[in-house]
Amino acid sequence: MDIRIEQECPQCGAPITIAESDRLLSCPYCGVKSFMQSSGAFRYVLPPLSGADASTPLLYAPYLRFKGNVFLVNEAGITYKVMDTTRQGYDLTGLPPSLGIRPQAMQLQRLLPTTSGRYLRLTAKARVILKQAVQVLPRREKHSVQEAVTLAKDMIYIGSRMETISHADRDHFLHRAFIGETVSFVYLPLQLTDTDILDGVTGNRLLTREQAVGVPLRGTPFNPRWQVEFMPTLCPRCGWSLDGEGDCLVMTCGNCDTAWALGQRDLERIGWQMVAGDRGTALYLGFWKISAHIPALDIYSFTDFIERTNQPMVARPEWHERVMSYWIPAFKLRPKIFLRTGRQATLGQWRLDPEDGHVVPNLYPVTLPVSEAKQAIKVILAASTASRKKIFPFLPEVRLQDITATLVFLPFVDKGHDWYQPQTGVAISKNVLRFGRSL
Ligand SMILES: [Zn+2]
Ligand SMILES: [Zn+2]
Repeated sequence: MDIRIEQECPQCGAPITIAESDRLLSCPYCGVKSFMQSSGAFRYVLPPLSGADASTPLLYAPYLRFKGNVFLVNEAGITYKVMDTTRQGYDLTGLPPSLGIRPQAMQLQRLLPTTSGRYLRLTAKARVILKQAVQVLPRREKHSVQEAVTLAKDMIYIGSRMETISHADRDHFLHRAFIGETVSFVYLPLQLTDTDILDGVTGNRLLTREQAVGVPLRGTPFNPRWQVEFMPTLCPRCGWSLDGEGDCLVMTCGNCDTAWALGQRDLERIGWQMVAGDRGTALYLGFWKISAHIPALDIYSFTDFIERTNQPMVARPEWHERVMSYWIPAFKLRPKIFLRTGRQATLGQWRLDPEDGHVVPNLYPVTLPVSEAKQAIKVILAASTASRKKIFPFLPEVRLQDITATLVFLPFVDKGHDWYQPQTGVAISKNVLRFGRSL
C-alpha cells in the first residue's frame, strides 16, 4: 500500500498531499512543477500527538521501510514475494519491531530541518549487516546513492527474510533479485518523561526510563544531507517545460523530443525510441531494451538465445546479426504480470522495429528506473526459457557484458478490458496497469 505524505509547495507554501513514489511535485495552486532530489533515501516522520508536552523535545527512532518485489529462482521455478514492511532500526527493547500499518493509515510528514527534536541513528547491529553487504559490492571510491539503497535493501531483506522466505527457498535459490523497490526512513517520535518513554503518536508508554538504562538516547540533530531539494523541470537542452506526472521517473520535452531521467542530482539525458503506432494506437508503454552479452551461456545474438533457451521456433538467418536484448517493462506491475510481459516482449523483439522517439500526448509514465530493469534481466531470462535445465543451473555464473539500455515505447490498442500490443501479443489488463501505479 502506498503511503501519503504532506508536502508544502516550495514556491507558494500551499499544502499538497503526494504519494511515496512521487518524485515530481505539481502544485495545483501556483502551477509550478519541480522534482525532488535527495542524496539518500527519503525520510518521513509519523505525526506526533498534537498537544504533546512541548517542553520536552521529541526523540525520533528510525525505521526502515522497504516496499518492492523479491524474485527467487530455484530448480522448481520462479517464485516471488511482495514485500511491504518497516523494520526497527534502533536497538531498544520495548520499541515496536515494526510500525505495522501506521505509515499507511496516517499521513506522514517529510522530515525537515525545522522539525524540532533529535534523531537516533541506525544502531550497530544494523550497521554490521550493512557492512557485510558492502563487502560484496564492487570497490569504489564512494558509494553512490543507488548502492546505498542496495545496501539498505539487503539489510532489510536479512532482517525480515525469516517471515517472507522459507529456509528451503533461501538455501537453494539460484538467483535472487529485488525489483521496483522503494526504500525510505520513517521516524517514530518518542516522548521522554522523567520516568517513561512514550510513543509520541499514541501517548502510550513503551518502556520505563529504568528499562532503557545504558542505552544512549541523546540522538543527533537534523543532518543537512537529509534535506530534500526541489529542482525546476525545465529541459536542460532547450529550456522548454518538461512533461511528466507525479510518479514518473523520465520526463520528455515536447519541443526538442529529448527524454530525461530523474537522476539523483540532475536530469540525465537518455536514449529513447518508439515503435510507430497507427490510428488505432491508444497508448504507448515504455520498455527498457537492454542489450547485453552473456558469456557464461554463450548468448550474444538473438539466434544464440533461441537455441540456448530451446525456443520452439527456427532462428532466421538475420537473427545472427541481431544483438540479444532483454525487454523489461519500464512501469510497475504485479510480479506475475511483470514476468509474463517481459517474456513476451523479449521473445517478440524480432517483430519490433524502433525508430527515433518523438513526443506524443499518450506516453504512459515510466515508473521503473533502468537500474531496476538491469536487475530484472536474469529473472526475465529465466522466465523466457523453454528449458529450465539449460539455463537455471548456470544463473549464478551469469554476468552481463557490454550492456546498453534504450527506452522504447511500444504502441498499444484498446481491447476493452485490456491494452494490447499488436506485434508481440502482450496484453495487459487496464486494472492491472492502474494498480501498478500504487505498487
Ligand atoms: Zn504552489
Ligand atoms: Zn527540450
